[in-house]
Amino acid sequence: MKAKLVACPQCGTGIEWTPENRYRPFCSERCKMIDLGAWATERYRVPVTETDDTEVPDENPEDDRPRPN
Ligand SMILES: [Zn+2]
Repeated sequence: MKAKLVACPQCGTGIEWTPENRYRPFCSERCKMIDLGAWATERYRVPVTETDDTEVPDENPEDDRPRPN
């Protein structure tokens, strides 16, 4: 019997989709719990205040430079 290979949605590890794997589509209980935790975290997610300090204006001095004639 050839098992179907699937990628764990959590970590991307290739796993065999078999009835024996009760954590499918995850590779392990750990990844399954992480996914469940992610859902819970998303539900109670606090809005993150982002600062604009990291945003650097994308200027392109190369284009503004006068070309030599
Ligand atoms: Zn995994």
